[in-house]
Formats: sequence, structure tokens, C-alpha cells
Amino acid sequence: MTFQQLSKDILATELCTACGACELACPPGVIGFDGLEPVLTLASWTEADCGGCGDCLDVCPGADPATPAAEDRLFGRRRTVEERWTGIFSEVLAGHSLEPEVFEASASGGSLTALMRTAMSVLDVDVVLSMGRDPDEPWRAAPRLVREPSGLTDTAQSTYQLAPYLGALREVMEKSPEDTVALTGVACHIQAMRKLQAMDTEAGRWARDHVVLMLEPACSSSTRPEGTLAVIRERARVPVESVVRLRYREGDYPGDISVRTDDGEDHRVPFWQAVRDFAGSKTHRCLSCGDWMSGLADVSVSDGDPNIFAASVEGADQHKHGRVFVRTGAGAAAVAAASGHGLLAVSPVELKGLNLGLERKRNRRATYERSGTCIPLGPVPGHREEIEIVPDERWIAAPETTAEGTSADTPGRTADGAEEREGRR
Ligand SMILES: Cc1cc2nc3c(=O)[nH]c(=O)nc-3n(C[C@H](O)[C@H](O)[C@H](O)COP(=O)(O)OP(=O)(O)OC[C@H]3O[C@@H](n4cnc5c(N)ncnc54)[C@H](O)[C@@H]3O)c2cc1C
Ligand code: SF4
Ligand code: SF4
Ligand code: SF4
Repeated sequence: MTFQQLSKDILATELCTACGACELACPPGVIGFDGLEPVLTLASWTEADCGGCGDCLDVCPGADPATPAAEDRLFGRRRTVEERWTGIFSEVLAGHSLEPEVFEASASGGSLTALMRTAMSVLDVDVVLSMGRDPDEPWRAAPRLVREPSGLTDTAQSTYQLAPYLGALREVMEKSPEDTVALTGVACHIQAMRKLQAMDTEAGRWARDHVVLMLEPACSSSTRPEGTLAVIRERARVPVESVVRLRYREGDYPGDISVRTDDGEDHRVPFWQAVRDFAGSKTHRCLSCGDWMSGLADVSVSDGDPNIFAASVEGADQHKHGRVFVRTGAGAAAVAAASGHGLLAVSPVELKGLNLGLERKRNRRATYERSGTCIPLGPVPGHREEIEIVPDERWIAAPETTAEGTSADTPGRTADGAEEREGRR
């Protein structure tokens, strides 16, 4: 197997998630990125140079996230059909950070940031991989290696933009291999890291021994950088060169897109507006993605509020918080440490009700499962959901339509398949 095989099986079929795991796993380090696309960085590198290596394809979650094998290793069992969208978890809690600056800076209460701060300040983790911004183009998403708990507030909040991510860990693996690492990442990032941890290679052994905690935000889908560019140009109406800071969930929950320009002005775009704009800049891989959460992280967190789109249109009727899915022993220990050190408030919560992002994902996935196109494997082998498909536009109908009640007719079902959707939440 060679890089050419990866090109044929993953890139040509548009199954690449831009996770960056191939860059991290490649033994000679010859994979880099041209935008979101993995490329060989040496023009002279040939198929013969790859020899018998196939590490880039082995680690790749693009076509095969390899969920059942990872579940066998982590939980000693595979998820049931009922657990298809949640994965296996020991408990689900309502959570939010107890530090005001983290709470303010966060997407839905800061549980993830609180857990990463705990990893550094209580559990002796040396470095955290988190999603930040490119220092040269501050509107562009880029991975950040954080070495001080205080640096994590800057990387809080959801980043609705794709960027090659896991390759940033190469620096740690090569320059400070004894450091322990925690990371946050969406489903495809976590799937790739679990695949890497199972590989008998130098990178695999390093990941197994040194990546000690993985946390994930739920992910309905991400967006190409072009989606953010369109919001900057067409909604905030500012030149992209003038942007010095960009946040996606700024201010009172659920927050707005906030674009700060070099004159110090903050230009706000309503979250619901950006969600609608982003829909035109999705990849085939994100649209056909079979996982809302990988279920393979130590802890996963979703919005606590079931319908963030409606909250953006009509105002939130819930306090800002997240739903914290505790999965592994390492996850339970991190939550206990965060709670015990006064960094995270948690309380029991019932897992029921619609989550807009999950419903959009289920419906898109069902559409792709019936389309006959090349799509990634789902987490339950052979299982296909038989639902009446609701087109994506109806989940994010423009506010006028929402106010008139058209989208309230949507026959949305809850994640547990139970109740008919009532109004917007
Ligand atoms: C693309 C995307 C889609 C989402 N879709 C849904 C959804 O459908 N339903 C739902 O309930 N929740 C969704 N979420 C999750 C939700 O927005 C919050 O991130 C989650 O509730 C955690 O909130 P928090 O306040 O605990 O996180 P915070 O404390 O604000 O921390 C967020 C953490 O996530 C990391 N992160 C943010 N964006 C990315 C990214 N693109 N790639 C890797 N890491 C990232 C940050 O580095 C940070 O560490 C989505 C998030 C993203 C990034
Ligand atoms: S490992 Fe990730 S970045 Fe590389 S080809 Fe596969 S999905 Fe794309
Ligand atoms: S050396 Fe291995 S990991 Fe690197 S490009 Fe070739 S096959 Fe892929
Ligand atoms: S939708 Fe799937 S492929 Fe796209 S960023 Fe989210 S987890 Fe990755």
C-alpha cells in the first residue's frame, strides 16, 4: 500500500475528513496539506519509496472509522442498535464550568474546557491539542498546542470550520515525546486516534502511551473555510484581510458569529443566519458522515439545549449548559477530578428530547445511505435507519417560515425515537 492507494481509496472518493491523522502516522513524515487535501511534500517521493508501508491508509477514518474494533478494546462490547447515535456511555450529566471566564468564553457552558483545564492542572497533562486560529489569518481554523491552562480559554467555543488537525501532534511526538497529551476533537479525529493507538508502529505506540485523555464535542457537520469566508464578506461585509479575531458562539447563549476587524469593531452575524449560509459549503464526507459522536472519546459533550437554531432565532429558554456523556474510566476520573476541584458543576439529567444537530445528521445520513454513493461505514455493521426523511432545509427554515409555523409541521423524531416534535423545541 502507498500514498497512491490513499489517494485512490479516500481522496478520489471524497471520503477525506481532513483529520490530519495520515500526517501524524506517516513514518518518514512526507504527508502535508494543500488546503484541506493531504499531499506528498516531497516531489521526488515515489510509490517505491513507500515500500510496504500503508500506515496512512491504516489510520484513516475516512472510509472506515473502525468503531466496532475500538469498542471491543475500550468497552469489551459493541454498541447495540439502540445506542447507534449515542455510543456506549456510563452516565449522562448536565455540566458547566464553574470558572466565569471559561463559562463566558465557551459554546455551551465550558464542560470541555473545564475538563481540559483539569487535565493540565490536576492530572499533570503536559499539553492539550485544541482548535484555535491560524496566527497569520486569524479567521482561519488551525490546531493549537496549549501548554498552560490559561491558554485554553482562547480555544473554547465551537469552530464550525474544517482544518487539518491531528498532524499538529507530530511536533510533540518528535520534539517532546515523553509529554502526556489530552485532546479535544470531533468524531473523525477521535476515530483516527483510536485507530492509531491500535497500530503497532512508532506513532501508534507513542499515541497509546502518551495520549491519555480524549474529549469530543458532538458534530452535526463541519464546513469548508469558504463557508466562513462567505459569512465574513457577505454578512459581516468586511474585507477578510481586516479580520483580527473570529468567534462562532460569542455573547449570550447560543451566541453569534463575531468578526473583529483591525479598527477594533466587532461585527455580529446571527448564529441561525450563519448556519443557513454554511449549508452551501459542506463536503461529501461531512454530509454523509455516520457519527454524531464517535462514542470512542473518554467524554463527549453536546449542547444541553435541544434546538440551538430556534434559540438563536427566538432567544434561549434554557440556561447555558452541556450534556456530558461519560464513557471510560479515564473520562469518569477526569469528571470526578474537575468536579472535586471546583472546576465543573455536574448534575443528573434525563437523556431525552430532540437535538437539532443530531436530527439533521440522521436525516442526511439516511439520504446518503439510500443514494448508492460511496459513504463511510457506520458504527453498527450492516444497520441502516429506516426513517421518513425530512430535508435539511426544513430543519433550518428561515425565521419568517418558522414564525408562521411551517417548520413546526416537520415530523421530527427524537434521538430515542420517542416523541413527535412540538414547535421548535
Ligand atoms: C463542527 C461542530 C458541530 C457541532 N454540532 C453539534 C450538534 O449537532 N449538536 C450539539 O448538541 N452540539 C454540537 N456541537 C458541539 C457544541 O457546539 C459544543 O461544542 C459542545 O456542546 C461542547 O460545549 P462546551 O461549552 O463544553 O465546549 P467548550 O468549553 O466551548 O470547548 C469546545 C472545545 O471543542 C474544541 N473544538 C471546537 N471546534 C472544534 C473542531 N472543529 N474540531 C476539533 N475540536 C474543536 C475546542 O478546541 C474546545 O476545546 C458541535 C461542535 C462543532 C465544533
Ligand atoms: S487520515 Fe484523515 S486527512 Fe488523511 S486521508 Fe484519511 S481522512 Fe483524510
Ligand atoms: S510512507 Fe507510508 S504513511 Fe507515508 S505516504 Fe507512504 S504509505 Fe503513506
Ligand atoms: S461531520 Fe463527520 S467528517 Fe465532518 S467534521 Fe464532523 S465528525 Fe468529521
